[in-house]
Amino acid sequence: MIKSLRPKDTGKALSDEPAQGEQFICVNCRDAHFVHPLREDGKPDYTRVVSCECVREQIERERKQSLLRYCELPTGTAHLTLENFKVSPELQEAYDLAAQLAEGSGEVTWITLVAGADRGKTHLAIGICRRWLQRGTPARFAYVPLLLEELRRGFREEGDRSYEARFDRFLNVPLLALDDLGAEYRTPWVQEKLDTIIDYRLINGLPLVVTTNTPLDELPFRIASRLRRNPSSRVVVIDAPEFRKTKR
Ligand SMILES: [Zn+2]
Repeated sequence: MIKSLRPKDTGKALSDEPAQGEQFICVNCRDAHFVHPLREDGKPDYTRVVSCECVREQIERERKQSLLRYCELPTGTAHLTLENFKVSPELQEAYDLAAQLAEGSGEVTWITLVAGADRGKTHLAIGICRRWLQRGTPARFAYVPLLLEELRRGFREEGDRSYEARFDRFLNVPLLALDDLGAEYRTPWVQEKLDTIIDYRLINGLPLVVTTNTPLDELPFRIASRLRRNPSSRVVVIDAPEFRKTKR
């Protein structure tokens, strides 16, 4: 908690002096929504202002809402969290890794979940993203075929919506989840974009979650080898009814 100084204690109000007897919703900042922090010696630092506590909560709430919009989780998935994930024995390893990455703790920063449809891998990817958002860290969830469509749309737009801006976000967002890798229509352009995103995130040590229905051996070689060889990467193959798993 930042110690703050009431304007009335200093005789210097941050906003216009109120009429006598005027009521403030927040007496701390007199509804100015900001205050001067105290220096080490206990005196106000007039060179700085910080948000008053009365608005800090609201700012935090708005920031989280904006992070949630930016993440672009699929609609209708608000109920998909790690807390309500049903952990069956064959999904235990995948869940444990997801829980680690969700906390941003542990040495594993890349997780690849290989499984057929409806095995819970997308649920885990969404759950990891949600936990990052709750902590206030940006995350981006992308269904791979749509990601590439989104990039293409950027050719017709400018500024924040341009191709360069969109591509840069996929490169640099603190957590990227690529859902259903391998479902995209493979062209040299598409492969180059995916290669670049994955390479860049590898070189810069940026976290990545991949889900795929495609066995790694059938993914483009360059991508598969990065998913396998990154020392911070784990590949979990969930194969029903037979369960087998590989590490790296
Ligand atoms: Zn206030």
